[in-house]
Amino acid sequence: MSGGGVHFAFTNRWGGVSAAPYEQLNLGGAVGDDPAAVLRNRELAAHSLGIDPGRVVWMNQVHGKDVAVVDGPWDSGTEIPSVDGVVTARRGLALAVLTADCTPVLLADPEAGVIGAAHAGRPGMVAGVVPETVEAMRKLGAEPERIIARTGPAVCGRCYEVPDAMRAEVAAVEPAAHAETSWGTPAVDVTAGVRAQLERLGVRDLAGSGVCTRESADHFSYRRDRTTGRLASYIWLD
Ligand SMILES: [Zn+2]
Repeated sequence: MSGGGVHFAFTNRWGGVSAAPYEQLNLGGAVGDDPAAVLRNRELAAHSLGIDPGRVVWMNQVHGKDVAVVDGPWDSGTEIPSVDGVVTARRGLALAVLTADCTPVLLADPEAGVIGAAHAGRPGMVAGVVPETVEAMRKLGAEPERIIARTGPAVCGRCYEVPDAMRAEVAAVEPAAHAETSWGTPAVDVTAGVRAQLERLGVRDLAGSGVCTRESADHFSYRRDRTTGRLASYIWLD
């Protein structure tokens, strides 16, 4: 997907070099896979997208709501900050989110030349990492009414079973996330929660991938497989 110089890209699990249970294109470095395979996969993914693998910003995701403003990749040798949102006004710099059921959220105001990426699992959605990311973009000149928002492959509300009390806790913060599994038990729809949060902020151009990771054999799913790889979602401006 692209338009106004902005590019959104979502990987699936194919086209990489990782062995089972991470086969094939595992892009996550903290899941037990061979680091050399992950590095090679990140190169392969970047080349297939036509971007420089050295110009991709990866987060140390911790299910929080902190957001970092960046203008380049992290300095090598320094610890990668624990954030679940990252924004930039730097063209040619790609922001990446790692997921295997959580909702990756990509945001762009092409007119302002500002982009953002957020990792929104259930805790992050409840904590408000997506509104925090939009706020960080606003500080760089973005306006919610101009933001293009895209969510990537994630476990759907009909698959994400949780205890009844947890659903109640989540729905008390974000009613739109209240869901039920296809087998009739309490569930949470994180993507629906993210969409509701964005709509309240004034974001109008919203679309999702429509892919449920748990149901798709072409995607990594933590809830389905436990030990598995990570997908990546990338956003960048020309
Ligand atoms: Zn599903």
